[in-house]
Amino acid sequence: MGMTLTEKILAKASGRTKVEPGENIWVETDVLMTHDVCGPGTIGVFKREFGENAKVWNPDKIVLIPDHYIFTNDERANRNVDILRDFAQEQGIKYFYDITDRSDFKANPDYKGVCHIALAQEGHTRPGEVLFGTDSHTCNAGAFGQFATGIGNTDAAFIMGTGKLLIKVPATMRFVFNGELPDYLLAKDLILQIIGDISVAGANYRTMEFAGDTVERLTMEERMTLCNMVIEAGGKNGTVAPDKTTFDYVTSRTDKPFDSFYSDGDAKFYSDRTYDVSKLEPVVAKPHSPDNRDLARNCRDVKIDRVYIGSCTGGKTSDFLNAARILKGNQVKVPTYLVPATQKVYEDLFVTKYEGQTLSEIFLAAGCIEPAAPSCAACLGGPKDTFGRMNEPEICVSTTNRNFPGRMGNKEAQVYLASPYTAAASALTGHVTDPREFLC
Ligand code: SF4
Repeated sequence: MGMTLTEKILAKASGRTKVEPGENIWVETDVLMTHDVCGPGTIGVFKREFGENAKVWNPDKIVLIPDHYIFTNDERANRNVDILRDFAQEQGIKYFYDITDRSDFKANPDYKGVCHIALAQEGHTRPGEVLFGTDSHTCNAGAFGQFATGIGNTDAAFIMGTGKLLIKVPATMRFVFNGELPDYLLAKDLILQIIGDISVAGANYRTMEFAGDTVERLTMEERMTLCNMVIEAGGKNGTVAPDKTTFDYVTSRTDKPFDSFYSDGDAKFYSDRTYDVSKLEPVVAKPHSPDNRDLARNCRDVKIDRVYIGSCTGGKTSDFLNAARILKGNQVKVPTYLVPATQKVYEDLFVTKYEGQTLSEIFLAAGCIEPAAPSCAACLGGPKDTFGRMNEPEICVSTTNRNFPGRMGNKEAQVYLASPYTAAASALTGHVTDPREFLC
């Protein structure tokens, strides 16, 4: 019996020739990522368990990315970044994407923004490797054929001290998308379709492997959108088989060597589900769960108060390009917040053009609020002064990934998760809108 892509990576990382789902194995870590929210806790456990003067197992394999609560006057949030900085200096951490001047993020060339997109853009997401991160959306990096999963602070502290972690090998569920993707659908529609089908617990502790000719044609950013939301179905990790698209992206960002793994033809899958994308329609996840799926066109009666385009799921350059495609030449009817995931995405808004205009020009002409500094911003609510935070019980269409009560701030607020197309179309009408109204 063959192995899946995930099983092959874990076999290699555990020094074995074969592993099977359900086995508990020790794996070696290639990259450990933590950020300003979980980093201080992780560091605290590391020092408590390994000693005040302990050294991390490998300062070149730890990536520290402040990104969550950055542009706030909240003293505890600011202190968290200071703790990361002190630890990076003490340990000689090679990859620390610091921010010292919060009043002008552009004056901080090291500062990147949202960890999952920064990891990819800085070349830390390499096929065949093992990436652990203290953030549930670490699964984003499965788009590169990497084993990437979120862990808690205690596990992360153990890795800091040893470089290893004991994990159970997940069984793999395969999701195959075939056909030419209609030009009104995006990867966000595909993953919301799956989560609606299998529920938020439908892939608990399993790998979600995405395959099929539709997936093979997706850009890296769209593959990231698919894998990013694996955790919303309870998945341990997501994977897409690496190919030329992957190699072009990775090798332009790092010269580190890597191995590529692929599921064998006789690999055993826990389940297999196939979609004909020509039969799918734009969807949203209604409040208050990512699996509360409905067709966007069924929700026309939902009047909205705002639109939010941002986060590791929906704040990449291509997400903004797709939003611009709908917004160009039109006027928004509700406040529309734009939060680039990273500094690089922010810069792209001012140079990337759609039909002769930069994305930023298109957004401002359409009446959107000026693009904010890159960070997680209101995706996770954050301190009261966080940009875009839902401080009132309003209704929002958002390109983010979670819509549980209080996720974006106010506990009474309602969040409809949607693709950048659907979010932009909804901004133009003031109600949840199928993007085909503007694309066809
Ligand atoms: S953008 Fe949102 S989902 Fe992504 S890492 Fe930040 S808080 Fe988490």
